[in-house]
Amino acid sequence: MNPVPTFARRLQFNNTLRWLLPVVLVLLFLTILIWLPWQAREMESNERQEQLIADTLWVEQTIRFQLGRDEESLRALGADIDNGHLTPNQLRERMAQLLNNGHELLRVQWIDPQGRMITGSDDGAPLSEISRTTADIARRTHNAQYTQPEAQNPDPHAPPAAVLMDYHVPLYRGGTYLGSLVATYQVSALLEEMVPWWFAQENQITLTDRDDHVLARRAAAGPGHGVYTHKRALDLPGVNITLVTDSVKSAPRLLPNLLVGSVIVLSLGLLWSLLALWGHITRRLAAEGALRQQMSFRTAMENSLVTGLRARDLEGRVTYVNPAFCQLVGYPPEELIGKVPPMPYWAPEAMAEYQHRFAAVLAGTITPQFETIFQRADGTRVPVLIFEAPLVDKDGRQTGWMGSILDISDRKRIEELNRQQHEKLQTSARLATMGEIASMLAHELNQPLAAISSYTTGALNVLGRAEASGAPVDGSMLKPALEQASAQAQRAGQIIRSVHAFVKKREPLREEVTLPALLEGIRALIELQARRFYVVIHTELAPDLPPLRIDRMMVEQVLLNLTRNAIEAMAHIPPQRRVLTLRASYDAAAGQVSVAVIDQGHGIPQDVAERLFSPFFSTKAEGMGMGLNICRTAIEFHGGALTHHANPEGGTIFTFTLPAAPVATHTGAI
Ligand code: ADP
Repeated sequence: MNPVPTFARRLQFNNTLRWLLPVVLVLLFLTILIWLPWQAREMESNERQEQLIADTLWVEQTIRFQLGRDEESLRALGADIDNGHLTPNQLRERMAQLLNNGHELLRVQWIDPQGRMITGSDDGAPLSEISRTTADIARRTHNAQYTQPEAQNPDPHAPPAAVLMDYHVPLYRGGTYLGSLVATYQVSALLEEMVPWWFAQENQITLTDRDDHVLARRAAAGPGHGVYTHKRALDLPGVNITLVTDSVKSAPRLLPNLLVGSVIVLSLGLLWSLLALWGHITRRLAAEGALRQQMSFRTAMENSLVTGLRARDLEGRVTYVNPAFCQLVGYPPEELIGKVPPMPYWAPEAMAEYQHRFAAVLAGTITPQFETIFQRADGTRVPVLIFEAPLVDKDGRQTGWMGSILDISDRKRIEELNRQQHEKLQTSARLATMGEIASMLAHELNQPLAAISSYTTGALNVLGRAEASGAPVDGSMLKPALEQASAQAQRAGQIIRSVHAFVKKREPLREEVTLPALLEGIRALIELQARRFYVVIHTELAPDLPPLRIDRMMVEQVLLNLTRNAIEAMAHIPPQRRVLTLRASYDAAAGQVSVAVIDQGHGIPQDVAERLFSPFFSTKAEGMGMGLNICRTAIEFHGGALTHHANPEGGTIFTFTLPAAPVATHTGAI
């Protein structure tokens, strides 16, 4: 199984979880916030309903209990009538007593089997049709019965349209039906007398018949709201009456306004902050992603660099090294980071130089670019080129130094190879020139040799004549001839020595020499070349020329090459223009001597100028094309420059410069 997709999936899952979890939690919180008041309302509502049911039951029980007590009293009275113990007066007294005990009772009367009143608590009233039927049922069943309540109208003792209900207790004496004891209830009085006031304050109480017709109603605190209601049948023999309670309380308000408001405001605030947080997190994640990408890009870049990188703080402590630097010095990063000088890669022989440079760094100055050597962990030396720049933080404050370090071993090797190559080429070029010079030499030496020969022959003739005549030798005649011969011999010798020195291969050797002395040394050779084409040599040397510290032989060769080219360029122009000028001046400000070789020859066309310094480029049939290339190398080796431009008077001017001060050696750099 490939671990990378698994890791990526896990990362993605983690990211999803990071934003999903708070969202789910907040939604849960909001749901609970909304659900809680709703739940509280439900609970309150249930509680009220349950309370109403309990209260209704209690009221029903109370009514039942009171009616039960009345029934009991009536049955006891009935039994006394049955036994015939009571006198009519006693009976009336008992009846009055009953009415006193139960205010719900309107009257009590004893009626005979024909429905006529025998004795009553008042004057009595004729029985209604329903009441008579009930009396009959009670008689037949021998059980006390209630009549269906009905409005009794008109009744002199009852309030208008009062709903009344009779209770019949059948009377038997020894199996003989004596009629009924009838108790008349005013139904509304049941509610007034039997329902406690506190219940009536909170509820509308109604008694209904089986067809839901209202028999009586008590609404002390106004009509009920129909929200909390309960029905309870009064279990009375012979009659269907239902007790209906309806609370005056309305449904609990969902939430007090303040609570609703604060919940809404809080929820909105929460949502807003969640969105803001979300936005913030998204931006942060995007920034983090970009940063991570930048980091990996930077790391990849640093790791792929072949240039060593090293950062140091202001105390010179190494704070960062890249892999290329570690590879260069052969130490792992942990052995370098946090180190203060002396560093493990400092070579003992260059310690003084490092210390000096480090002191400068501490003082806040750096050498932006310099060469030095490092010592690798295995003890080998490596030449390096170091570039240093200040390291600044985001506020522009300098926090240290950043250095890039180049391994220049290869460059040094190539430079050395080039140098050797050039030397070989110089030797070859010299040899080639020597061939030419040898032929010229043979021709030129002819002159002095012929002169010497004729001077010596003349001198010998003088001696011969003196010997033949026996006259003494005239020294004054011999001396000029011998002097001339000697001068010519010396000149020949100088030509030969110069050629010898020129072709001899040797190591570069710097010596202090003045330009006039140098020119003097090669004058004979230049004249030799010039004479071939009848070129006149002009020398214009500034009087303040300082001495030069140069490899004499090299600079001589440069001059010889340039003068030879100049002379050859004038080979085919009118003889009166064949003037070679050698001009030397000193620029004190730049501290350098400049030497110009000026001809009035054919000049250099553009296409030739472009390839002038390329090795083996020549326009001459017998040319090697190495001269200018070697010249430039030699001049640059001395820290100068070789340039050329067209001579305004026709021809070309080649100029080279040489520093007057001693040339800085590069040994200090390593
Ligand atoms: P070579 O002299 O062997 O040809 P050089 O490198 O000395 O090689 O010169 C290269 C070419 O530059 C010459 O062939 C010539 O065409 C041109 N050149 C050099 N010096 C001069 C000059 N003073 N005037 C005109 N042409 C020149």
